[in-house]
Amino acid sequence: MRDPRYDILFEPVKIGPVTAKNRFYQVPHCNGGGYRDPSAAAEMRRVKSEGGWGVIFTEQVEIHHTSEITPFIELRLWDEDDMPGLVKMADAIHSNGALAGIELAYSGANGPNLYTREVPMGPGHSPILTFTSDPVQARAMDKEDIRNLRHWHKLAYRRAKRAGYDILCLYGAHGFGIVQHFLSPRTNQRTDEYGGSLENRSRLLKELISDARDEVGDTCAIAVRLSLDEMAGEQGFSNAQLRDMVAMHAELPDLWDFAHGTWEACSGTSRFKPEGAQEDLIRGIKQLTPKPVVGVGRFTSADMMVRQVKQGILDFIGAARPSIADPFLPKKVDENRIEDIRECIGCNICVTGDMTMSISRCTQNSSFMEEWRKGWHPERMPAKKSETKVLVVGAGPAGLSAAHRLGLRGYEVALAEAGADLGGRVTRESRLPGLSAWARVRDYRVGQIQKMTNVNVYRDSALSADDILGFGFEHVAIATGATWRRDGVARYHLFPVVLDSAMPVFTPDDLMAGKLPSGHVVLYDDDHYYMGSVLAELLLKQGCRVTYLTPSTKASEWATNTLEQGYIQQRLLESGVDVKVTRALSSVQTGGVTASCTYTGRTEEIACDAVLMVTARLPDESVFLDLKTRQAEWADSGILSVKAIGDAQAPAAIAWATYAGHRYAEELDEPDQGDALPFRREVARVKD
Ligand code: ADP
Ligand code: SF4
Repeated sequence: MRDPRYDILFEPVKIGPVTAKNRFYQVPHCNGGGYRDPSAAAEMRRVKSEGGWGVIFTEQVEIHHTSEITPFIELRLWDEDDMPGLVKMADAIHSNGALAGIELAYSGANGPNLYTREVPMGPGHSPILTFTSDPVQARAMDKEDIRNLRHWHKLAYRRAKRAGYDILCLYGAHGFGIVQHFLSPRTNQRTDEYGGSLENRSRLLKELISDARDEVGDTCAIAVRLSLDEMAGEQGFSNAQLRDMVAMHAELPDLWDFAHGTWEACSGTSRFKPEGAQEDLIRGIKQLTPKPVVGVGRFTSADMMVRQVKQGILDFIGAARPSIADPFLPKKVDENRIEDIRECIGCNICVTGDMTMSISRCTQNSSFMEEWRKGWHPERMPAKKSETKVLVVGAGPAGLSAAHRLGLRGYEVALAEAGADLGGRVTRESRLPGLSAWARVRDYRVGQIQKMTNVNVYRDSALSADDILGFGFEHVAIATGATWRRDGVARYHLFPVVLDSAMPVFTPDDLMAGKLPSGHVVLYDDDHYYMGSVLAELLLKQGCRVTYLTPSTKASEWATNTLEQGYIQQRLLESGVDVKVTRALSSVQTGGVTASCTYTGRTEEIACDAVLMVTARLPDESVFLDLKTRQAEWADSGILSVKAIGDAQAPAAIAWATYAGHRYAEELDEPDQGDALPFRREVARVKD
């Protein structure tokens, strides 16, 4: 039964001609699948409908072939060929009573058109403003282009309505849509009636919305998604200008959806942005318009959501990442199962699926984008196929996920952990600066396991191969994790670096275990994700001086994919870390290190008191290897299978470990697929 405190979140809200059944609004979000994987994307949204969301949006949908953002993979609505995928998604969204929203995008100065080879257009002549610095410029649109743009939008409105969408939203946020490019004095320096004053700069938006209302406004709601602040100072579309614009056009759309300026600022990681980080930028806007307002803030707390509504900040609780981590969040609030919510940890691994044009994954929800490909579900597992018992060794993210998911299947599971604490690396890492949310990976799974009578947890139980052979479990999953290397081997050096034993050399494991260097530390980062920069912060807090060396051209290079790289480098520079890029560590001697330029090989001596290696990791696979060499003894012990999973198999980010645990549980007792692909996919239809 629902807690009456949360009733307000389940009130129906009218949006123009349609009504949402509650205030849970899944804002548009990419998934790396898009037009390449339409059924996978549609099924992912269907599961959210099952999970109780009132409104569910597509990702950005490119409305016309003259503006597209290759290599990034979103959805398209270029012609009738794109309709089946969009119809499938709308049907999936409707399956449990959600309203289907479609985000219509004309990327303008953000679309390099690498695929269609059309000349991009924007409010003015400008280089294409995207992540990839393509050598392409947009040309300035003339009046005929603007008439064409309105016509293309009309075609899109009609198709979107025919495909079954209830809410049509124009994309003008994150710097990605032409609506924003016209609104911003930064990108719109026109001297005609579409440039100059705010009234002129908002003319295109006004025309596009009026056209939409004429075309489909009888049955479809018309919404707009705008940036709260472009973060470009006076030259940009500021929060003050946005407020003036909303006041000027208070009744124009049926709904206002607001998101912070750049995508990096809007979808900040938990390391840099707390829950509800956009509240100051959005508070008071609702009072400028009679139309409902949506905002985001990585909301996972139902109490926080209630406050947003009660204090008149938002009408709808917008969510992308919280809906990915837990598609059943609304249902769990409705059923008063707050402790069952799988809270987003704000790591942005989901974003990396889009940034790497692969397919998105989620650290917390391993079934994300596997709903259709593998038939996985965030809440349910297939029933067990046998009465066999399973031993999971190691309670890090891989072991915890395996035990939880096996438990859901109904297997008898023993989870043995060497230490007193559960959680493995997420417990250790969550104590580092800015990473406290990592603990949610452990807390959700431990919380679920504790309720299961068929999963038993044994702490302080470091198991050896002898122990395991003595127990007689039929299946054994080895999730014993990994250890950071001390010898400098990673991407740049594939052989160990020459180390003088007089120089203290530390690893991330040492620091996490409380063994800390002092004085001037050279931190060598050939890992390129978060660990190096996080440990630099830890060292500074300990009073160390830090020189950060990396063979890359920037600090934490891979964090570009989690939208954090800029924040990380800014923090390192502002906190006094000496950042030296394109530098490899050549040797470590008494009193210092030698670094070499990765382009020229020129060397430089850096005096220091200690070295911290943030490089590669090696699996802790001794138990697994012992068992493998004693395979002849398995039958006598009743063992049918032994598998290494997660970091014990091949170290990777946490999302890989939770996925490995989930996969192990899904595939236990399933027939061997032989050479068949272990997932479904769609292959482009071949035409003559
Ligand atoms: P992953 O990310 O793959 O889950 P972690 O390093 O986070 O890996 O977790 C591995 C866990 O396994 C740690 O908590 C560690 O204490 C535990 N562990 C390692 N070796 C053994 C062992 N022989 N018996 C039981 N637990 C072990
Ligand atoms: Fe949240 Fe990380 Fe999952 Fe994205 S990948 S939804 S940020 S937990």
